[in-house]
Amino acid sequence: MYKTYIRNNQRVYFFTVLLVITLMTMGLLIKNPLDGELGIGCAIQFIFVVIISISLLLYPKYGTHGFRTIIIIEAFIYFYNIFFLYPETWSNFIFLCFIPAVAIMFFDSKLFYFSLVINAILIAFTFGFIALIDQGDLYIYINQDLVGNGFNYLASQVLIYFIYYLTNMRIKKQELYYEQVKEAERLKTAGQLAAAVAHEIRNPVTVVKGFLQLYERDPQFNDAVKSQFTLMIDELNTAESVVSQFLSIAKPEKNLNIELVNLKVVLQSVTDLLNSYGLLNNNNIELDITEDCYIAANNIELKQLLINVIKNAIEASDIGDSVIVKGGKKKDFVEIQVIDHGRGMSEKEVECLGTPFYSLKSKGTGLGMMICFNIAAKYKGTIDFQSSINEGTTVTICFPSENNAGK
Ligand code: ADP
Ligand code: MG
Repeated sequence: MYKTYIRNNQRVYFFTVLLVITLMTMGLLIKNPLDGELGIGCAIQFIFVVIISISLLLYPKYGTHGFRTIIIIEAFIYFYNIFFLYPETWSNFIFLCFIPAVAIMFFDSKLFYFSLVINAILIAFTFGFIALIDQGDLYIYINQDLVGNGFNYLASQVLIYFIYYLTNMRIKKQELYYEQVKEAERLKTAGQLAAAVAHEIRNPVTVVKGFLQLYERDPQFNDAVKSQFTLMIDELNTAESVVSQFLSIAKPEKNLNIELVNLKVVLQSVTDLLNSYGLLNNNNIELDITEDCYIAANNIELKQLLINVIKNAIEASDIGDSVIVKGGKKKDFVEIQVIDHGRGMSEKEVECLGTPFYSLKSKGTGLGMMICFNIAAKYKGTIDFQSSINEGTTVTICFPSENNAGK
């Protein structure tokens, strides 16, 4: 499908180029008013018909920016040459105005602006030459209405810019769409892989945990051994939670009920849960929420989101630093801020957040933020990051606010 598209594209390209070459050659050969008196201008025209033809034919092979610049410069020389060669052919002036359009054909923004500027300079010189030196001798039609022609030129540039703008917008939109499709495809593959692996791991873990729980109660083992069993069970519990994290991405549970969640209650329970985690490195969580705010979401998923974000903040913090968690109402939104003064992130790192398996931690899964973005999107929420390296990060989570009295 894609290959046919390219092949068709190439066919159209070569067909157009051949047409252009034929037209250029015809212009050179048929009823040339300079027939017979081959001057330097004619020679230049002939040479450039050949050079441009070769360049256009070779372009698909070496489609670089440099090559495109060369073609544009050739076009400038060619068109300005015929403008000065055939003063009585007024249509050549229109060609001059439309040289920057060649850059649009190549989808090259830099080149487009470059040719706009170069053309403006050259046109100014040309008009200067006609007004001061030529004085309407050869270019009567321009000299008679210099201002009018100037406006015509400007109008043509505006028109070209408009065409460029529209084309560019369309391309950008298409690129974005293509990126999104690619990203969705990647997520799907990652999700399927995760589901397969997670599924295979979950069963043996459950079996081993079951036996360990039995041994834990078995009187033939002494207490020292039993405490080791407890440790093993704890570790397996962690493994299980990682596995269910995987599975929640791969197969999001469909029938989670949406309820009216009181953010204050949720934040309290989440911070209580994470306080002991923070104590590992002496990180304290300061909770600051006074009013009751309500969000329409699934309680467990909302907790999962907050746990992931606050856990990241703790992990980024230096020993002894506090993480601040604020909640409150802002107009029609409920806003939660998680503020840390830890390692921070560069702009590039912030951009990578949410990409599956993107993690800078030795034991990170790189799935936490992806889960968070998924959950936020599900309940029409947003997550924003403000971060600077070594100064810390503020994560702002917004959800549409729900009115408790309404339900
Ligand atoms: P994990 O925590 O398993 O690494 P996440 O998706 O939760 O995966 O986070 C991805 C990465 O984003 C982290 O490895 C970390 O580098 C970066 N990150 C997330 N939150 C913060 C934060 N508050 N401060 C600094 N870096 C962060
Ligand atoms: Mg994390």
